[in-house]
Amino acid sequence: MERLQAYKFELRTNGEQLGKLRQFAGSCRFVYNRALGLQQENHKAGLKYIGYVPMANRLPKWRKEEGSCWLKNASAHPLQQSLRDLDRAFQNFFAGRAGFPRFKKKGDGDSFRYPEPKQFKLDQANNRVFLPKLGWIRYRNSRKVLGTLRNITISERCGKWFFSVQTVREVEASQHPSTSLVGIDMGIKVFAAQSDGENHLPLNSFATYQRKLAREQRSLARKKKFSNNWRKQKDRVARLYRRIANARADYLHKKTHTISNNHAVVCIEDLKVANMSRSASGSQALPGKNVKAKSGLNRAILDQGWGEFRRQLGYKLGWAGGELIVVPAQYTSQQCSCCGHIAKENRQSQAGFCCQSCGYSDNADTNAAKNIEAAGHAVLACGGDVRPELREHVIQAAPVKQEPAEAIWAIA
Ligand SMILES: [Zn+2]
Repeated sequence: MERLQAYKFELRTNGEQLGKLRQFAGSCRFVYNRALGLQQENHKAGLKYIGYVPMANRLPKWRKEEGSCWLKNASAHPLQQSLRDLDRAFQNFFAGRAGFPRFKKKGDGDSFRYPEPKQFKLDQANNRVFLPKLGWIRYRNSRKVLGTLRNITISERCGKWFFSVQTVREVEASQHPSTSLVGIDMGIKVFAAQSDGENHLPLNSFATYQRKLAREQRSLARKKKFSNNWRKQKDRVARLYRRIANARADYLHKKTHTISNNHAVVCIEDLKVANMSRSASGSQALPGKNVKAKSGLNRAILDQGWGEFRRQLGYKLGWAGGELIVVPAQYTSQQCSCCGHIAKENRQSQAGFCCQSCGYSDNADTNAAKNIEAAGHAVLACGGDVRPELREHVIQAAPVKQEPAEAIWAIA
């Protein structure tokens, strides 16, 4: 079995390297935004979408033009890669999987990628990595990288720079030690409720830190921009953000590790996190309802990282020889897991479920998880009540980018 695995480490740059990293990321952002602008103009003029190849053919010209000749300082490959990213964003948009691509802002997930293994070198013995035009950069070597190197991505998060190297290696297909199947219902009050009655309570790292963050940000707003105190305060805010992100990553990795170890097959609802967390305010023509309540719910969903939870469960189960099954979300919270009766009235309160038909009562989240488990059984029994493309989609989508738990903990 081929295992794709990514390893992420923190870079230990000197001042000159740091400047160049920022410059390269800025060049990639510029190219991405320029191409996006071009696509928009093109569309307004009623012309067809410009594909990746004709767009990439414009790059050499941009690198020579007077206004953007500084692009020459950056390597060509990462610039091409950002055009590939834009192309993928458009393909996702055309297929209805994502919204219209947006312009990138400075500091908003800056990153760039070298797609070929011959473009970089990893010297694990001396804790350093070689990148074109940047030279050798030291890094915090926290674990051994196994397998053949495939590509490398450099990224910034909360003021720190990281590289993530993707590898591939042959491993023996593993057999999951357990044979159990469990359904999981995702929620706000209970992060994940299992059909066997076990509950995972949420770690609302953001909620805990929220007040503190608001205070620090108010203090930042009061300071004179670009003054020394302003810079210090900005660092403080960035550190707080980093701590929240680390706490969440740690929580998700621990939960998905436990669940994927204990159960061979995990069934989960196909919640469209992207849809659910979409801005509640709507558009001018179609204003949203319940804007305030929904934006609170959105923040809670994003805060808990459901999408990331599902991604981790997928690849961890795959590695352990198990399987993640995604079932469509339909009435799982209103349906009785005992007799199948569906009614709004079954849900008496947030926490309690009481069937109006057969009198079965249970915790509402556990009942929903049992319905999800039943739907998962239907999938395993081939087809059932489940759209096949859904299953395929998940199996393909799961192992794209993997950050193993240890690597994240090592950075934290
Ligand atoms: Zn019932």
